[in-house]
Amino acid sequence: MVLNEAATSESAPPSVSVAIPLYNEADGVQVLLDRVLAVLDQLPGDGHEVVLVDDGSTDATFQLLRRAAEKDERVVAISLSRNFGHQAACAAALRHTRGQVGVLMDGDLQDPPEQIPEMLKRYHEGFDVVYAIRAKRKEGVLLRSCYFLFYRVMGALADQPMPLDAGDFCLMSRRVIDFLNASGERQRYLRGLRAWVGFRQVGIPIEREARQHGDSKYSWRGLLGLAVDGIFSHSVLPLRAAALLGFVAILVSLLIAAHALYGKLVQGDSPQGYTALVITLIFFSGVQLVFLGVIGEYVGRIFEEVKRRPSFIVDQVIRADDACNPTTP
Ligand code: UDP
Ligand code: MG
Repeated sequence: MVLNEAATSESAPPSVSVAIPLYNEADGVQVLLDRVLAVLDQLPGDGHEVVLVDDGSTDATFQLLRRAAEKDERVVAISLSRNFGHQAACAAALRHTRGQVGVLMDGDLQDPPEQIPEMLKRYHEGFDVVYAIRAKRKEGVLLRSCYFLFYRVMGALADQPMPLDAGDFCLMSRRVIDFLNASGERQRYLRGLRAWVGFRQVGIPIEREARQHGDSKYSWRGLLGLAVDGIFSHSVLPLRAAALLGFVAILVSLLIAAHALYGKLVQGDSPQGYTALVITLIFFSGVQLVFLGVIGEYVGRIFEEVKRRPSFIVDQVIRADDACNPTTP
């Protein structure tokens, strides 16, 4: 791995790998391949490839990928041993890319592949990461508001600055991909990890299209899981908030104690505070439980990380130029 090489290689145009995770996207695979390959045809240089990872689909996605890989040497089809989730599938796809530049995009054509030349232009200007900023979303109002809120909360909490409204759709230089591949983190929040790597990064506004086929594979629960992964993997502020709130509670209780003492010693009446007592007790029991939960989130994460299980397991790799070579991270 060459670490200090500039992002741009002036001589030959870079070979581009497009990495795409797919889960039950059989209806859209052909259109996706047609559009991506048409874009690759237009790019200068050669050696471009599309790495498609089938994330344990239950429909015909992998059969279609296999057929495409056997027909076209630019297509690499990979299947995972089961459904590992979007972020793990992205990691698997990135790991199998070989280009000097890698583009990560969703397989439902919400991310328009036609933007790749524009991203490459920014790469040539010296940026290691060119990410799409979701300028206009075609999702419902409720979902859009949740995304909006999440990115702002995440931005405020994250340990290092994180671009707002940046999705997974991005172009990355080989050295950034190598760093991501080398990162042992299991519960990945790719956008966070990508920002964490550093180098020169730039966002370009891209209109996110509506899904071409089928429904989103993210349930509300899945989205919440991703949001939790994002926040707890990239911030220790929730833990600090516990300590801060603890100090505030102690201060408040000292003030109340002083007030009670004053009442007893100076005014000679002991305070009648049964209701206040119960309310305070319940309130702070609640606060304690919440923060036990917060600590639990981190402990759970430590538990997952120390098990050191791979974040995905590869079943098959269909690549025109070499035989089946299952690899695990
Ligand atoms: N995906 C995946 N594994 C999953 C869920 C989704 O590989 O468990 C893929 C999916 O096929 C798509 C991309 O990840 O190509 C983004 O998923 P989706 O469109 O459902 O997410 P959304 O755009 O709604 O955030
Ligand atoms: Mg989508």
